[in-house]
Parts: sequence; structure tokens; C-alpha cells
Amino acid sequence: MEYKFAKRIQNLRASEIREILKVTERPEVISFAGGLPAPELFPVKEIKDVTRLVLEENGAKALQYTTTEGYTPLREWIADRTNKNMGSSFGYENILLTHGSQQALDLTGKVFLDEGDVVLCESPTYLAAISAFKAYGCRFKEVPTDNDGMIPDELESILYSTQNVKLIYVIPDFQNPTGRTWSVERREMLVQAAMKHNIIIIEDNPYGELRFEGEMLPSVKSFDKTGLVICLGTFSKIFCPGYRIGWVAGEEKIISKYILVKQGVDLQCNTMAQMEIAKYLELYSIDKHISNIKKAYKRRRDTVVKAMEEEFPEGVTFTRPEGGLFAWVELPPDVDSRDVLQKCLEKNVAFVPGGAFFPNENRQNTMRINFSNMPEERIVEGIKRISDVLREFIHAKLQASLGD
Ligand code: PMP
Repeated sequence: MEYKFAKRIQNLRASEIREILKVTERPEVISFAGGLPAPELFPVKEIKDVTRLVLEENGAKALQYTTTEGYTPLREWIADRTNKNMGSSFGYENILLTHGSQQALDLTGKVFLDEGDVVLCESPTYLAAISAFKAYGCRFKEVPTDNDGMIPDELESILYSTQNVKLIYVIPDFQNPTGRTWSVERREMLVQAAMKHNIIIIEDNPYGELRFEGEMLPSVKSFDKTGLVICLGTFSKIFCPGYRIGWVAGEEKIISKYILVKQGVDLQCNTMAQMEIAKYLELYSIDKHISNIKKAYKRRRDTVVKAMEEEFPEGVTFTRPEGGLFAWVELPPDVDSRDVLQKCLEKNVAFVPGGAFFPNENRQNTMRINFSNMPEERIVEGIKRISDVLREFIHAKLQASLGD
């Protein structure tokens, strides 16, 4: 039987991360691959309590359908939190709950993208945002990006020379995959440029609350005077990803479109999950919980950076993130991290090759290192093993070039 799939599916390929994650489920593998939070920090006991309480106090409601928008007390909490962290002035009407911010990315594509539209993104950018948007037939323009964010002149010239730009997608805080954070000036510049060209900005911010040092910076949203910035957020990294609860926050006129498309996708998020999270927020301190996560991740960040400084061979560079879950490694130009990964898997250590994070360029001499999911001693051992493989590769390339 020859199956006649939709055209849009022909451009999609299996995520490299998903394939690698299958291997990393083996306990002997030291994994820097997935973006997984530390499971030992999940508040399992507290969640047992809130589950019981929700069922005892409001069981029938928790098991019933609810509105597409979501459970109002939770939307109120999210609006307040977003206002505090991002300088917005949202009410609960500006918030739609989604199945993780991943669903918010997909709904964004449904709401804004027509075939042939262009999405501007950082170079590199979040892999699963590329897949979510691509399904709607868009093209990507990667805006050259340095340690401070998109480079203003490059952004301007792309905006002037490109037709059909619909969205600018950015992750300004502790970006996935690089761990980089935009400077304040670049955030303001981005809003000015988008305003001039009348383009929507998607500010995706799953990691902003996970800052280990320094001050929280004003969000991109905080410079928005005209309602062109849409904020995506999630409980995945500050609480538990298994709940699959995230949100999209924006002008009511925009949110009403997201609500329409969500109705066609899944009607609503899981009612029980929404009420359990709201109960947790009422009874426990999420700030204390986040503070514990940050302490653990900071130790792991310190460990991974120190290990990379001590072990990685010359010619290999890497970022030193001030928060979040990821560091980004650049290898000499002729070393392909997919080959490095094959060798590393033989030594039971994994990471994600960086090429897939570039929608067009495919720079294969890069790798993403996640540091949140492994205890410190395994981080040290894992970086040693990767370093041994890197030394072999760099040595072999050097020998080959001497032989040329
Ligand atoms: N955006 C970014 C930048 C991410 O890194 C992730 C998760 N890795 C998501 C969105 C999706 O997160 P979730 O669906 O778990 O909220």
C-alpha cells in the first residue's frame, strides 16, 4: 500500500534528539543529550498531597471538561508572575493554557503562518520550534547571532531585503541550545526593529527563572508599547514537565485566535493537571522549590564548565551560561560532531550534535551539552570521555592535513 501523506509531512524528519534519547535511557549511558530536569528534585510528596486534596475537595470538577482558556485561578497566577518577571500588564484574559510551550509553538504556526512565509530566528535556535513552524510550510532566515543576541545590522538588512516575514522567534534568556542571554540593548533594538516593520515577536522563555548569578534582565516584552510581543512560558523547567502545562500570553485579540485553533486541536488542557498545579501554588512555595533547583543546577553548571576547561583539547570553545540547562560547544571547523557522537556512544556518553539547531546552515562542528540531568561525578566522567574522543578526532585531522 502506498500511503498518500500530506505534503507538509514530507519535509519533516525524525528529531535527532528523540533518536538519541532512546539510547540514553540505558542507565549506563552518561547523557548530556536531552533537556531533562533533575528528576530527584520533583516535589513528589507534595504532589501526592495536592492530588488527594483536589480529588477530595473538588473531585467531580477536576475530572470534568473545562474551558479551552483553562482554569482561571491558574491563569491569574500566571498573569501576575509574568507581570512581575517580564514587566507586562496582563490579566488572566491574556493567558491561554497550552500542553507545554511546545503546543504554544504549534498553535503559533497555525495562527500566523501561511505557506511561503518567513520566520526569522537566532542562529542556532530551538530544534523543536523549527519542526513546529516548518509543518506550516514556512521558510527560515537565520539572523547572525553573537553572545549578546541577534546582530542589529544583520537583522535590519534581513528585514529590508526579505519579503513575507511573519514572525521573529527568540529565546533571549539562557537560550536552547547555546545557553546565551541577550543584552538589554539588543532586546530593545529587537522591539524597535519589529515595530518599524510591523512584525510579531515570539519571546519563548522557559528558562528565565533559572538564573544562577547576576540580575534578571528586562524582558523583550517590557519594551513593547504596541502589543507585538507574544510571550510563551511553561511549568516544565520550574516544576515538572510531565504535567505538560505551559502558556501563551498576549493581547486579547491575539489570544482569541489561539483559543479558536486550540479548540480544534484538543479542546483544552488536562483539567486535573491544571487544578493540581493551582493547588500546589496555593499551599507550597514554588519560589523555594525554584531556589532548590537553581542551587543544584548551578553546582552542575560549575562542574561542567570546570571539566570542559580542564579536559577539552585546544581549538574547542564553549559557552559559560549564567542559568538554564545548556552549554554550547564549537569544534574545529572540519570536525563533524555526528561522527564524534558515534564514537562517544561506544563509550556510553551522549550529547546532541549541533547541526540540527540551524534550520538552513547545518554547522556540524557544534554540540549541545545539557548539564541539569546528571549528578556531578558523572558529569566529570562524561566530559573526560568526550574529551578523549575529541582529542582522537583533532589529532587524526591534524595528521591528515600534515599528510596533504
Ligand atoms: N521552548 C524551548 C526554548 C524549549 O527549550 C522547550 C523545551 N525543551 C520548549 C519550548 C518546550 O517545553 P515544554 O513543552 O515542555 O513547555
